[in-house]
Amino acid sequence: MIQTLLLTSLLFISQVSTREEKFINLKKQLENQGFQVIIELPPKRGAYGLLREADKKIWINPVVFELHIATQTLIHEAIHAAQLCAGKGKIKTLGLNIQPSNYARPFFMRYADVHRQDLEREAYAVQTQLNSYELAVSLLKKYCK
Ligand SMILES: [Zn+2]
Repeated sequence: MIQTLLLTSLLFISQVSTREEKFINLKKQLENQGFQVIIELPPKRGAYGLLREADKKIWINPVVFELHIATQTLIHEAIHAAQLCAGKGKIKTLGLNIQPSNYARPFFMRYADVHRQDLEREAYAVQTQLNSYELAVSLLKKYCK
């Protein structure tokens, strides 16, 4: 019993540290590609993350650490970063052949602007993949040089 508990908590610790490593690595990669990542309340109320295209500034809402969605949030913003690089400063979709799950639909359908909807659909599509982190890393490498 105690051994099982110990094993479970060790497993939990290793999962947590992998998650933190991913966050730190992705943040570093974004910074190497000229993006500024700050852990502060985004200027848009209620947002978990935000990318300002004009100066490549990414806000990550501190609450995402408590909600345990920090890496997921950074992955989402990293896709917008790749979209910005792909459009050479004017954000555009990457044209990926993946779709977000139906559960993610309300999150991007709430945007009135159709162009914004497409950008968000793509970010949510990547974010909801099992290999979302690896995908984000490779898309950043591909489009931001
Ligand atoms: Zn977004």
